[in-house]
Amino acid sequence: MARDFIRTIIDEDLRSGRCSGVVTRFPPEPNGFPHIGHAKSITLNFGIAAEYGGTCHLRFDDTNPATEDIAYVRAIKAAVRWLGFEWGRHEYYASDYFEQLYEWACLLIHKGLAYVDDLSEAQIRALRGTVTRPGQPSTYRNRSVEENLALFAAMRAGEFSDGARVLRARIDMAHPNMKMRDPLMYRIRHAHHYRRKDAWCIYPFYDWAHGQSDAIEGVTHSICTLEFSPNRVLYDWYLEALGISPRPYQYEFARLNLGHTVTSKRKLLLLVRQGRVAGWDDPRMPTLAGLRRRGVTPAAIRAFCDAVGTTKVDSTHDPHLLDHHVRDDLNRTAPRVMCVLDPLPVTLTNYPAKKRELLDAPYWPRDINRAGTRKVPFSGSLLIERSDFSARPRKGFRRLSPGALVRLRYACIIRCDEVVKDAHGEVTELRCSWLADSDGSATARLRPRGTIHWVDAKASLPATVRLFERLFLKEVLGSNFVAELNPHSIKVFSDARIEPSVQRDAPDMRYQFTRLGYFWRDATSQEDHTLVFNQVAPLRDSWNRPTAAAKEETNVRKASTPGPDAPPPTLPPEERAWLAHHGLPDSSGRALLQTPGARAYFERALAHAPPVLLANWIANRLLPLTRDTGLDALPFGPKAFGQLVALVADQKATPHLGRDVLARMLLSGGDPAQLLATARAHTMEKTDALHVYIDALLEQFPDKVRAYRAGKKGLLGFFIGQIRQNTRGAAPPRLVRSLLTERLDQSTS
Ligand code: ATP
Ligand code: MG
Repeated sequence: MARDFIRTIIDEDLRSGRCSGVVTRFPPEPNGFPHIGHAKSITLNFGIAAEYGGTCHLRFDDTNPATEDIAYVRAIKAAVRWLGFEWGRHEYYASDYFEQLYEWACLLIHKGLAYVDDLSEAQIRALRGTVTRPGQPSTYRNRSVEENLALFAAMRAGEFSDGARVLRARIDMAHPNMKMRDPLMYRIRHAHHYRRKDAWCIYPFYDWAHGQSDAIEGVTHSICTLEFSPNRVLYDWYLEALGISPRPYQYEFARLNLGHTVTSKRKLLLLVRQGRVAGWDDPRMPTLAGLRRRGVTPAAIRAFCDAVGTTKVDSTHDPHLLDHHVRDDLNRTAPRVMCVLDPLPVTLTNYPAKKRELLDAPYWPRDINRAGTRKVPFSGSLLIERSDFSARPRKGFRRLSPGALVRLRYACIIRCDEVVKDAHGEVTELRCSWLADSDGSATARLRPRGTIHWVDAKASLPATVRLFERLFLKEVLGSNFVAELNPHSIKVFSDARIEPSVQRDAPDMRYQFTRLGYFWRDATSQEDHTLVFNQVAPLRDSWNRPTAAAKEETNVRKASTPGPDAPPPTLPPEERAWLAHHGLPDSSGRALLQTPGARAYFERALAHAPPVLLANWIANRLLPLTRDTGLDALPFGPKAFGQLVALVADQKATPHLGRDVLARMLLSGGDPAQLLATARAHTMEKTDALHVYIDALLEQFPDKVRAYRAGKKGLLGFFIGQIRQNTRGAAPPRLVRSLLTERLDQSTS
């Protein structure tokens, strides 16, 4: 497993003796089904425990009676097991710690570190102050220990109504971190808890419950997502105030986000409640139940989570990256079979009427190097994909049209002699000649346009096939996400026909349907013996950004059937393996492979930075700058560049600051850490950073600068464009314009 900053910390903790073993936990709140983001947390926590010979606890963080449910507990357990992890006897519930938490709260009251406040939550919020203004103490802040203990006991005993009082930690109302301004520890909720029933009417808040639960279980490394960074101070404060030792420590990493979908249980719940999807396990959902139902394998999800890495930089990943790992897994395990989604009858007019053949067809393409064949029935009545025929083919159409020849996969060549239409002009049948056997002996001279898939009209089986597209149209979604739902996210082919060999297969077999993608039999259809298939992933990603015309073609195809004559995957196996080995997304990975020297540059920088971020930075930040000169012309080497990316990965520099350091490196090379310090020292006002770019630009185009100063003011647009491009659009155009004119005009006077 790649070294990331968390594993580095653990190594150091073990070496220094901070802990003698590793205990992690996955702490879901049972208020929804887990999603792909949780898979990242699961693989990280369970993965680390396994690597270090430690344990990972499954702890339900069930402190909120309003939203939790045993059904979600079951779903979470099923998902963790399905992903391939086991917690054994380490199944815990924060709600089992309520008594211990209560006692600890009393201890804090005793120490004068907690008090009962009669203010409402709204009043408390109003008195908290702002980031720049300190908060005001509550009038109840200085209650005596005795009074606090008595009131807290009365809270527990149910003597007050919801919201009447809270318990707060007594820390510092002027603390620069708002979380530390006397945070809430308990609130009153006369609610039925799915597990503790009516035993409690006070419930602990997250910060109070979480760290103490970690401590009770002996967790050593409490790994959570970045939004909890401000809570860490409070996490530490509680443990220290209680004097717990040895104690757990909290570490934060970036959430995993997937484009074109939402990774928030609350938002997913809304989709389910409003009936926008068919349930938590709808195959379009990013829930683990949905991905499972779709046919995605646990291995593919684990590989995806590994490839994404563990960093401190938030990023949204393209769903194609997940598809890539699905294909990578299934390519070697999913046998090839033929299925026709939207059948068009083909009659072979010269084929003997009664004749039936059983053709031998290999399950695997040659490069997979696996043996195995199945029998595919063949006769004079076949079905082909409706979209594989065109009465008026456009230029370059490589399938069947009047008079044209195509090869039928595994079978023979046919020629379309006659097109039969119904009264509405709809094509109902193609009458074709059968030109020879599959061995090609009599057809050596013939030049078919392409190869298409087919099934036998009678011997094939009826099937329903479902294709999926992204659930949302937009990549990054805001609060109004429901409005962005993709109306075409599912396409059902209920008249599909599939070759009969699948009848004998194990129900959970995954297939590659020739030219259509990877599929598996939907879970419900495995039970009721119908044939309903879900598309797990398409065959190709859309990396080869299509031209406008090609795009239109793709759209048409998406609306009918998936692309039959798109170009084959272009990467040779060695390069594909290389991408997979480093877990690189297709886009940046290919950029590295296709730019001379870029792959070697990446490999030399790799010792210093995590692969995916490194590849993205090389592809997006370096290659556009060195298109004409090549990487060799850079004033710094791969090591320095790797170090720069590492600064960003470890969150020592924001991506913005990182880009700025890169601009400085481009000017004169140098050590990124030092340049970062300089950049920081310059307070990094926007104008400062821009001057760096402007310096570089004026140096780069002395002729144009002279021309501008000689009166060619129209060149200003060029300069602005360059800066916008070099800063990748980050620089505000107005500011760019004013700084540029200032600089350009300056030296003329
Ligand atoms: P949601 O916002 O979907 O409700 P959550 O963070 O509230 O998620 P929890 O049940 O509290 O969900 O999460 C359990 C664990 O999973 C936490 O440690 C959390 O940090 C982690 N986690 C949740 N979402 C992600 C994500 N997108 N990427 C990585 N880890 C995540
Ligand atoms: Mg949560």
